[in-house]
Amino acid sequence: MSTHSPTPDDADSPASDVAGRPVVTHLRCSSCGYDLHGLAQDGRCPECGLEVAETVAPSRFEREWLLTIRYGVRWMIASMYVFAFLVVTSYMQSTENALVAVMQFAGAVALMKRNPNRPDDAAIVPWPQWLLAASVPAYLVASTGWVIALDMQWILYLLGAGLQAAALVMLWLRLASIARHGIAPKIPLIARSLAWLTVAVGVLTPLPLILWRTNTGSQQMYSIAEGLRLLWLVLLLVWFLASTVTLHLMMVPLQRIIHAIEDASASDEPARAGAEPVHSGRSAQ
Ligand SMILES: [Zn+2]
Repeated sequence: MSTHSPTPDDADSPASDVAGRPVVTHLRCSSCGYDLHGLAQDGRCPECGLEVAETVAPSRFEREWLLTIRYGVRWMIASMYVFAFLVVTSYMQSTENALVAVMQFAGAVALMKRNPNRPDDAAIVPWPQWLLAASVPAYLVASTGWVIALDMQWILYLLGAGLQAAALVMLWLRLASIARHGIAPKIPLIARSLAWLTVAVGVLTPLPLILWRTNTGSQQMYSIAEGLRLLWLVLLLVWFLASTVTLHLMMVPLQRIIHAIEDASASDEPARAGAEPVHSGRSAQ
């Protein structure tokens, strides 16, 4: 007995404790797609009879992918705060827009990584990162004094803003598809709503500018432009608050799942290696 039972704690953490742990995510059975949430990891799928462990084991390899997604969400959150800081401290300049776009580019590259264990994780929106990358030179050229004409300057600025808004619409759709894969059941609806809100903010960005530019002295046109600008500011504020809160909400299940996967793999290995001799020692006693 004493030869193969180094600590009494080993006997208190038997393998069945790990195996009986419920599935914490809305994991789909890899054979039939049944939602395995809440089922014991040593059980079988009630639909097709496949061992739950068969589906759970590959999910541990999803850790790398989940870490990348978390990294992407963190970049998006950071970009939102930098954006808010720049709007509050100064009038938003093109160079500052470029900085926010660079941060969102880093987030987009991470968020577009495919889930290696889910063949259905198709990139419905394949290129937000490249739209963001294209918006950076547009903003930077618009900010330089050597742009030929003032008109060219604001056209470039609007080009950058348009590319950035289009990329953010795609990123919200991407976040919706990530959350749909058992990460957070309510996020997809919110994320899709935010995609639409981003469209509204993006469309409203150039309208006041265009009205001001084309205004030939009509007071009515001018007040319409002012009204549209006020509406745009209100929508931008709502968009900022809703986006930031949603990104933080997305972090909660991501952290939980990553920790659950790490806990499961950490406690599984010593249990597999050490539980057998402890058990046989006990039963022999
Ligand atoms: Zn099944």
